[in-house]
Amino acid sequence: MGLITDFSIELSTPECDLESAIYRASVSIDADISEALPYVNATVEKAEFIPSVPVLVWTEGSHKYALRPREVAISNITEMKEAQQLASQIVARINSIWDRKSEIEPSYESYERPKVLDILKLLPRTNCRECGLATCMAFADSLAKDKQSLEDCPALSGAECVQQLDALREMGL
Ligand code: SF4
Repeated sequence: MGLITDFSIELSTPECDLESAIYRASVSIDADISEALPYVNATVEKAEFIPSVPVLVWTEGSHKYALRPREVAISNITEMKEAQQLASQIVARINSIWDRKSEIEPSYESYERPKVLDILKLLPRTNCRECGLATCMAFADSLAKDKQSLEDCPALSGAECVQQLDALREMGL
C-alpha cells in the first residue's frame, strides 16, 4: 500500500480575482508526506524547497505544484475533471517515489530563481515584441516565472547573442 491512500479535492478562485474561471486545487491527503519531500525534490527540476516549513514548490507545464505535509496544491485548473486527473497523477508519483526511496539520494537543495533584472541585462532589450510581449522587461519577468522559454525570443538565437544565451542557460532558464 502506498504512502497516500486517499485524497479529496477542493477548488478555489485566487483571492486577487474572485471572478476568475481559473482555479487552485487543494488536494487534502491522508498521510503526512514531510519525509517524502526531499525525495520528490531530487526528482523534479527547479524546485524551491524550504525544509523548515516544510514546502516544496515547482512548475511543470502550465501548473505550479506546492507540496506540504498534508496538502498538494495545484494551480491553473479549469475544471474538477482536470483537478482529479492531475491529483491522481501526482499522488501516484509521490507514492512511487516513496516506494523507491532506497534508490534515490534525497535532496535538500533549493532552486534559486534568477532575478528579473539579471535576466533583463542579458536580453537584446530592443522591445521588438516578437516574443508576444510588449517589452523585454515583461519577457524577463515571464522567464523568471517559467511562463515562457528562451526559444520564444527569436533574437536570442542570433550569432551576436551566443554569449548571452549561454549565460541565460547557466541561470537554469
Ligand atoms: S522577442 Fe526578445 S528582444 Fe524582442 S521584445 Fe521579446 S525579449 Fe525583447
